Order: sequence, then C-alpha cells, then structure tokens
Amino acid sequence: MQKTVKDYIRTIPGFPHEGILFRDVTTLFADPQGFRLCIDQLVAPHRARRIDRVAGLEARGFILGGAVAYRLATGFVPIRKKGKLPGRTIAQPYKLEYGEAVIEIHDDALQPGEKVLLVDDLLATGGTAEAGIRLIERLGAEVVGCAFIVDLPDLGGRRRLEAMGLEVHALCA
Ligand code: 5GP
Repeated sequence: MQKTVKDYIRTIPGFPHEGILFRDVTTLFADPQGFRLCIDQLVAPHRARRIDRVAGLEARGFILGGAVAYRLATGFVPIRKKGKLPGRTIAQPYKLEYGEAVIEIHDDALQPGEKVLLVDDLLATGGTAEAGIRLIERLGAEVVGCAFIVDLPDLGGRRRLEAMGLEVHALCA
C-alpha cells in the first residue's frame, strides 16, 4: 500500500518533557519519497491562487517553507526567535505552556497588500501561528492560508485560527 505522510513521522514519548508525545518530523524530512509527498501535498491547495510570499516559522517551518516557496515560484520570509534576525525587526510576544516567547520578522520583509502563505510543521494550541500571523498583518500583508504537516485537534489551534477567519490546511492529525 502507498505510504502516507503520517507513516513517515515517528512519535517520541517524554520529549521535551515527561508526558509529551513529540511528533518527530525529521524522519519525514530525511526520506526522499516522504519529503516530496509532504511538499506536494502542502502546495496542492495553493497552486491556483496568488501567493506573493511564503513565511516560515523557526525552525522546521524554514525547511518546509523554502521548498514550498520554490514550488510556488515565490520568495521565502523567515519568522525567527528574538535576536536572530540582523536587520530592523518588529516583535510579537506569545504565550508558551510555561512563560512567554517572542518572535520577530524584518520590518521590510513584506509589503502592504502582499498575500502570504504561513507554513509550520505542527499546529497545537495555535499560539505560535497566531503570533506569526500578527507579525505578517502588522506589516500590512494578508495571510491567505496556513499550512501544517500535523494538526493536533484536541489542542484547539485550528479552531483558534479559523475563528480569526483563516484557511487552515493540515496533512494529518
Ligand atoms: P503551538 O504554538 O501551536 O501550541 O505549538 C506549535 C509549535 O510548537 C510549532 O512551532 C511546532 O514546531 C512546535 N511543536 C509543539 N509540539 C510539537 C511536536 O510534537 N512535534 C513537533 N515537530 N513540533 C512541535
């Protein structure tokens, strides 16, 4: 039988801490058939629409976002953890399970009105994606879709993003 994207992902119990079942996508990225299948499926819903830029969330969103941008023949914009981008940035704080984090984007990375596809490996609570969306919108650009490999529906991320009026695509749960 044909393998699905999910078949290439392994689950590692107890990472990064006790009680967590971590979805490890490095096994998917490392497999030539798996990686190509994943990129083809991430791109499929967006082939016929206008996408000006693909934005990826650090760090696995960079691996996916670069390949997706190439396939859509557009550019890639990194959204990084605080202090990593060399130029002038805007910052967006967001809540983690314990405490807070900050992500940043270059303030000239997107132009007003540009249509952006946001990419990351996994959607859990949606906090990271929402912070990325805020950064994109603060630059005047528009998020036309959010693409993930894995959606963990019990954690509410999809509901949260859809409540913001966003289109969410995920390849597996
Ligand atoms: P959220 O902000 O939606 O709660 O968490 C999603 C973010 O945490 C994503 O950037 C994702 O990379 C990371 N993340 C959380 N849990 C996992 C996991 O089990 N596997 C992977 N690969 N990433 C995870």
